[in-house]
Amino acid sequence: MNKNHMTIHTRILTFALAFGLGVALSAGAAEKEKQLITPKGGKLLEKTEPHVELVVEKDRTVTINFYNDQLKSVPVSAQTVTVIADAKDGKAKLEFEKKGDVLVSKTKLPEGEGYNVVVQFKQTSEAKPQNFRFKLDLHTCGECKRAEYACVCGH
Ligand SMILES: [Zn+2]
Repeated sequence: MNKNHMTIHTRILTFALAFGLGVALSAGAAEKEKQLITPKGGKLLEKTEPHVELVVEKDRTVTINFYNDQLKSVPVSAQTVTVIADAKDGKAKLEFEKKGDVLVSKTKLPEGEGYNVVVQFKQTSEAKPQNFRFKLDLHTCGECKRAEYACVCGH
């Protein structure tokens, strides 16, 4: 009698755990679908067409990659980008040039981190710029293993 009771109890507990875990997992999956995970570990600029990924390279130059909705690389066309780094030693403006399919900064981001970076994206040179602001944090996120400035786990 007592043993039976235990078994039922265990079953209910197991079911509850499995169900709870299932709900948690599907919620996580749904969130991942909403957030596009850019292929090269960089930051996705929201609501641009095509999708734009900003990557801070190891040498502190910045690369801008372009993707379609399936996250396949597409070549840059008339889009232009300017980056303004609001570093402790003063503002630095990075201009970009076309290099193959991507845009590459002609100069590097200033030393240090924790400063704000503003990205001015223009669909064409005459278009109104879209501004994106983020904090430069190059530490690796413990959860998604990307640099914090490009973290996708909402951390
Ligand atoms: Zn993360």
